[in-house]
Amino acid sequence: MDLRLSEEQEAARETARELAEKKLLARAAKLDADEAFPEEAVRELADLGLLGMMTPESHGGAALDTVGYALSLMEIARADAAVAVTLSVNNLVAETITQWGTDAQRDKYLPLLNTPEGLGAFALTEPGAGSDVKALRCRAARDGDSYVLDGEKTWITSATHAGVFLVMAVTGEKETSAFLVDKGTAGMTVGKPEPKMGQRGSHTCALHFSGCRVPAANLLGKPGEGLKIALSALDAGRIGIASLSVGLIRACLEEMTRYAKERSAFGKPIAEHQAVQWMIADTAVEHEAAEALTLTTAWRRDVGQPFTEKAAMAKLLASEAANRSAYRAVQVFGGYGYSREYRVERLYRDARVLTLYEGTSEIQRLVIARNVLA
Ligand SMILES: Cc1cc2nc3c(=O)[nH]c(=O)nc-3n(C[C@H](O)[C@H](O)[C@H](O)COP(=O)(O)OP(=O)(O)OC[C@H]3O[C@@H](n4cnc5c(N)ncnc54)[C@H](O)[C@@H]3O)c2cc1C
Repeated sequence: MDLRLSEEQEAARETARELAEKKLLARAAKLDADEAFPEEAVRELADLGLLGMMTPESHGGAALDTVGYALSLMEIARADAAVAVTLSVNNLVAETITQWGTDAQRDKYLPLLNTPEGLGAFALTEPGAGSDVKALRCRAARDGDSYVLDGEKTWITSATHAGVFLVMAVTGEKETSAFLVDKGTAGMTVGKPEPKMGQRGSHTCALHFSGCRVPAANLLGKPGEGLKIALSALDAGRIGIASLSVGLIRACLEEMTRYAKERSAFGKPIAEHQAVQWMIADTAVEHEAAEALTLTTAWRRDVGQPFTEKAAMAKLLASEAANRSAYRAVQVFGGYGYSREYRVERLYRDARVLTLYEGTSEIQRLVIARNVLA
């Protein structure tokens, strides 16, 4: 396997790194404290062509491969995980439309998803259906040339700023279908952002549908393909969350290393105490392992190999490692790590959700075990 990056992959990583270091990092703490959506960052991502990173050039995108996307997301997440998750959900929606959409749907939605006004939201989870996606209750009933949606969705990332919502709804006895619902469609209400532990700049809201009429032309894929579409979107999405986790581990490692050299205890820098060195070493190893598994999984996808199991492994390994790394980062900082004045406190909170969304760690293990035992 050739592990060298292509010019396009290097360039995308460099562009993302520059934005992250010059702009995103400095703003991250305030956006977190204010629970403010990163509107400026989304505009900058759009200007740099990073919002439509994997969208085909024919639809105004940068047509980057999954490896290039993963590398860019790692850089963004290293500075601000809330911006990174906004970008990753937008990409998930754009890729799903690229893969499953009609020409008319691609022409309408893909250019929109490259813009700050047209961000994508992915609406699968409901109050009574998270891991158990077969328990969905939100219904879409066919009525002439339309479908009428009724029901609830919860925990929908970017809902306050989304231009298009990819909504999974029940259309028959055992049938779920996927719909593209435009922002402002009558009968769809977006709730208030949830008060969250971390990634607070990313807005996560409930959606309420009551007699929400959507043209039948907005059905994505065929009737009954909703769960297949959602699960394939999540397979790819997990590479995104793994990348986000790798970026966060990197941030923890950098913070720990810097602080361990600056802070002294018992007459020498704490970096000279072996226990501290071990925390740094363990984090460096986990960073390397998570990055390697994430990038090889991205590569598998790019060359057309099956990657469902590997994506679950990458997400499981990287998200759990991000939590261990954030724990160690706070530990190395001692009491200061518990203060909101220090970045590691935010990293610790931002890491927590990584083992929950886009499939919990338990669900990743189910996917992996199913494949191993098959
Ligand atoms: C910040 C945030 C953003 C999110 N963004 C989105 C979004 O944009 N779109 C969207 O659709 N959803 C989103 N989600 C929802 C997220 O994907 C779900 O929270 C997640 O899938 C888990 O579902 P649940 O919360 O209902 O937990 P449950 O499914 O109720 O699980 C509770 C616990 O039981 C365990 N469990 C459940 N079933 C099994 C099993 N079979 N075997 C072993 N253990 C099991 C779980 O692992 C977990 O530990 C988001 C969530 C958060 C917190």
